[in-house]
Amino acid sequence: MLFTFGVVPLLLAGCLLQLEAVTWREWLVVPASLVYANLVEYVGHRWPMHRPFPGLGLIYRRHAGQHHRFFTHEAMPIESRRDLRALLFPPILVIFFFGGFAAPVWFLREAFVSANVAWLFVASAIAYYLNYELLHTAYHMPDGHWLGRLGLVRRLCWLHQAHHDPRLMASRNFNITYPLGDWLFGTLHRPRDAATPSGP
Ligand SMILES: [Zn+2]
Ligand SMILES: [Zn+2]
Repeated sequence: MLFTFGVVPLLLAGCLLQLEAVTWREWLVVPASLVYANLVEYVGHRWPMHRPFPGLGLIYRRHAGQHHRFFTHEAMPIESRRDLRALLFPPILVIFFFGGFAAPVWFLREAFVSANVAWLFVASAIAYYLNYELLHTAYHMPDGHWLGRLGLVRRLCWLHQAHHDPRLMASRNFNITYPLGDWLFGTLHRPRDAATPSGP
């Protein structure tokens, strides 16, 4: 909790402090980075988190084994503070996503585009990650919690709850935030429009 909601916002502020006289063209990297982050969320969750890949077994066990065994579509809410261990991203996943997908892009942009673009990219990635943790935590809050009652959060929660159904977890709703990747790759499952899934 302290790392996610205490240290991460400081890292975000640190990135923003690096910016100097950003041009409008440089700002364009923000929406592009958010789309990239959404697709990374999709790909990372669809494959290494739900399929055992050589060398990435820890990621698979932590998610498919622990998070999904701990929370099912019928038992979504956390019941005690200890449950947060199964909810928040463990350091191994932070290292996997930021080391594997964010750091190389930052490096390339710093070297070939501009420092502003590189820092805006990392800031977008961190902001996306924070938004992810907030939303995912909201989905697993006890019934009636104010976070889960917000309209958009409730709708997104239904999608994630469907993903926690053991029959759907390996094939549907791999975006945990906004279902852009699921929509693009045809894996979006709206709980009310189909009782049984079809396809892969
Ligand atoms: Zn979940
Ligand atoms: Zn999952």
